[in-house]
Amino acid sequence: MAIQTQNPATGDVIKTFDAHTDAEVDLILAKSVVAHEVLRDWSFEKRADHMRKAAKILRDEADKLGKIVTLEMGKTLTSAIAEVNKCALGAEYYADMAESHLADEVVRTDAAKSYRAYQPLGPVLAVMPWNYPIWQVVRFAAPALMAGNTGLLKHASNVPQCALYIEDVFKRAGFPDGAFQTLLISGGKVERVLRDNRVKAATLTGSEPAGASVAAICGQEIKPTVLELGGSDAFIIMPSADLDAAIATGVKARNQNNGQSCIAAKRFIVHADIYEEVRERLVKATQALKIGDPMKKDTDVGPLVNEAARKEIASQVEAAVKDGARLLTGGKVMDGDGWYFEPGVIENIPKDSKAYYEEIFGPVAALYKVDNIDAAIELANDSPFGLGSSIWTTDKSEQDKAIRNLQAGATFVNAMTASHPALPFGGIKRSGYGRELAAEGIRAFCNVKTVYIA
Ligand code: NAP
Repeated sequence: MAIQTQNPATGDVIKTFDAHTDAEVDLILAKSVVAHEVLRDWSFEKRADHMRKAAKILRDEADKLGKIVTLEMGKTLTSAIAEVNKCALGAEYYADMAESHLADEVVRTDAAKSYRAYQPLGPVLAVMPWNYPIWQVVRFAAPALMAGNTGLLKHASNVPQCALYIEDVFKRAGFPDGAFQTLLISGGKVERVLRDNRVKAATLTGSEPAGASVAAICGQEIKPTVLELGGSDAFIIMPSADLDAAIATGVKARNQNNGQSCIAAKRFIVHADIYEEVRERLVKATQALKIGDPMKKDTDVGPLVNEAARKEIASQVEAAVKDGARLLTGGKVMDGDGWYFEPGVIENIPKDSKAYYEEIFGPVAALYKVDNIDAAIELANDSPFGLGSSIWTTDKSEQDKAIRNLQAGATFVNAMTASHPALPFGGIKRSGYGRELAAEGIRAFCNVKTVYIA
């Protein structure tokens, strides 16, 4: 895949980049090792000072960086600016919390003193996707640097300007030269980096094939990995729910980021008593979304990321309909320049259709009717994925059942699934393993050293 900025709103190629040569990659890895030697000796206080500087740069430059995000991957400018501001919060969270998350933990044994110590591993490779091109990176980089690791970013090939910008943010924030670097390489060049002895661990956010490949290579090299992969999150609505809030949130949760979010509400599972009403209102609210130029303030949904993604989603919808599902609105490629796609609602994808099990990584809501909470949970769990989940009910016993039985890395009750720096984020089943954010995120790439002093 060419490393280039191609505007999804027009299809125009704006800028192309030369990939780093193997020799350049080697130099970057060497710098990463040296920077780790420096950073591991910095106090938490010093690391935090620089992390706060990075947060300030992000906040000060949110508008400028937001425009680059929108230009490269097509999300609305409003949401791109919000994403950059969220990154500032994430950086500040780890500036504040790293020391306590990684403090020695004394354990009483027969030793004079015994404890757990969290120590950095060294250079960590992060393979990242384009859909939240700044947040995905910062949620890796902030804990990595605060732990004393160094970061190597292999970003998606369509967001090189975002990748280089973030590298520059950490440089300007005063981190050691080489502490956070971007590798401009294709997916095919990742193996060479993973097999390099200087790289100690890897994290990948993206698709299943890419995750499986990185994990297989790291398995052979005995290197730890965290995988954040796809999702097909359930959004369950029960009769006691506040329907105004559930529908407004559901439409947002499905269509935000132009429908390209791993934790988007993808499968709406609705109790029979309210099904007809929810269906009608969901369709109306979807039709009311304003689709258009993502740079404009009043746009709700911009273009999809590229032509291939648009074709893939259109063909998933067509296949589902062929298998017996009913398309209630939208779900179609739009005419004109750019990769616009009309947000859709589809109902009753049959269980024997391939589409029933797939992730639809675009703005199409799949609707299902169920008779009770047990059936809702059973349907929600009938998926290879297990990332997030959301349930709307004021009935405490239904809430408890959902929290206990939904097979997912997160269950949000009367709220939209979202990431928060203080809460662990990740999935189970084919959505991946390991956790980012919170204490789990910063400990993921630490050596949990047992110390025993007789
Ligand atoms: P993708 O094709 O897997 O790309 C993600 C990253 O992996 C890119 O940097 C890509 O580089 C790289 N890559 C691709 N194939 C690779 C390989 N064989 N070896 C090493 N690296 C490789 O993912 P996508 O389709 O752009 O992203 C959408 C997917 O990501 C969806 O399934 C979505 O649900 C998931 N996602 C998950 C989370 C989460 O937190 N769980 C968050 C966001 C997105 P190139 O661009 O150079 O190919």
